[in-house]
Amino acid sequence: MGMTDYADSWYEHSIRVELQPTPRLESEHRTDVCVIGGGVTGCSTALHLARRGYRVKLLEAKRIAWGASGRAGGHVLPGLGTGMDTVAKGLGKGDAQSIWDMSREAVQLVDDLVSEYSIPCDLRWGYVHTAIKPRHMKMYRDWVDQMASEYGYHDMELLDREAVRARVSTDYYIGGIHENGAGRLHPMNYTLGLARAAQSHGAELHEDSAVTRIESGDPARVHTEHGQVEADFVVLACNAYLDELDRSLRSKIMPVGNYVIATEPLDEHRVQQSLPTDEAVSDANFVLDYYHLSADRRLLYGGQVSYNGREPRNLRQRMEAKMTRIFPALAGVRVEYIWGGWVGITLNRSPHFGRVGGNVYFAHGYSGQGMAMGGMAGKLMAEAIGGQAERFDVFARMPHRDFPGGRHLRTPLLVLATNFYRLRDLI
Ligand SMILES: Cc1cc2nc3c(=O)[nH]c(=O)nc-3n(C[C@H](O)[C@H](O)[C@H](O)COP(=O)(O)OP(=O)(O)OC[C@H]3O[C@@H](n4cnc5c(N)ncnc54)[C@H](O)[C@@H]3O)c2cc1C
Repeated sequence: MGMTDYADSWYEHSIRVELQPTPRLESEHRTDVCVIGGGVTGCSTALHLARRGYRVKLLEAKRIAWGASGRAGGHVLPGLGTGMDTVAKGLGKGDAQSIWDMSREAVQLVDDLVSEYSIPCDLRWGYVHTAIKPRHMKMYRDWVDQMASEYGYHDMELLDREAVRARVSTDYYIGGIHENGAGRLHPMNYTLGLARAAQSHGAELHEDSAVTRIESGDPARVHTEHGQVEADFVVLACNAYLDELDRSLRSKIMPVGNYVIATEPLDEHRVQQSLPTDEAVSDANFVLDYYHLSADRRLLYGGQVSYNGREPRNLRQRMEAKMTRIFPALAGVRVEYIWGGWVGITLNRSPHFGRVGGNVYFAHGYSGQGMAMGGMAGKLMAEAIGGQAERFDVFARMPHRDFPGGRHLRTPLLVLATNFYRLRDLI
């Protein structure tokens, strides 16, 4: 395997979108906007800018959708990686309402882009949030009430044990919430679809073109090993894969490993004994499990995390054990793929948007909820570069702190903090 190959995921084996050529960047170029990173955020930014008539060059170190966007569970939900209370505390109720509304627009944007550009990504709506313990049910009741009374959101319906069981065929859960306006898609085909749409509006995409340095200035100069791009604006869309490219931003996001398995396709009997209504599911734990059926009826089951950069021991066995604890009927079903990727989390679990200098924009740190919000970030950055920054700036106002302890200490601190939550998950 070369270094630019995808993780060996089921997604990679079910690609349905072909791009126009994406040659490695060579020699010197001048453009309006240089986007760095070819995930949902970068591809959406390129698409929205190209649509507005900007000349765009997108540089991707490996391949389009190589990062989290080609590895994710693909669940599409309104809201952020944190509750709206955190947002209201940081920004006040008015801005919190705008952010909630934009998170709903993010979900609508997925639907719109998929139909406008005919992206074959198996988008399907219908979502079940499941409760394992009584305190989860209380949390859900408060959440449903708060979203209805304070944010005018009425799309969540509480479910009792039987109503959950009719959708998620297990005795494991005591109740839950049904949400029509959330769902799931094939994240790699979705991201490739955005990239293809960007190309159709004239954006130039370059794979195998890792950016090694950004020289600030007006215009800024973006360097790769074999070429350079001079641009009026730069957009950083590298999320948890940012690494050393910008050290000041790096301290705000922490890469956390997250993993998914895909079973062999299930027969009708096993579908009935797992997800008979074919909806997406996640539970209420802090370190949550999430799953759904693929278009060819594999169970894609996500869960396990790693905070130290290493794959958890016995990962495959642990994931299989989790899956069969919930669905005993799936014992003996073959797991055909297992893969993982980095989720970029921030300390307060709300995304981190902003500018470095005047003309370098960034959006990252979706804390596990970037599938929809990454696309919205691209739309907002295109608006801001086009001169309408009000909506981008609502997000950019959100205060964010560095992870304590700097680069080397923040991992152990986070492990400590998360072990606390893991313990809570057990209670
Ligand atoms: C296992 C897993 C499950 C997830 N499940 C969900 C889910 O169900 N729902 C949800 O909403 N979110 C989920 N997420 C999170 C979601 O995938 C991300 O929030 C989203 O994909 C972020 O997109 P992005 O474009 O910002 O970043 P990425 O998709 O990570 O893209 C960043 C890109 O930047 C490139 N890059 C990095 N450095 C450079 C450089 N120097 N030069 C050029 N390119 C560079 C990388 O190669 C990469 O392709 C999950 C993530 C993982 C890992």
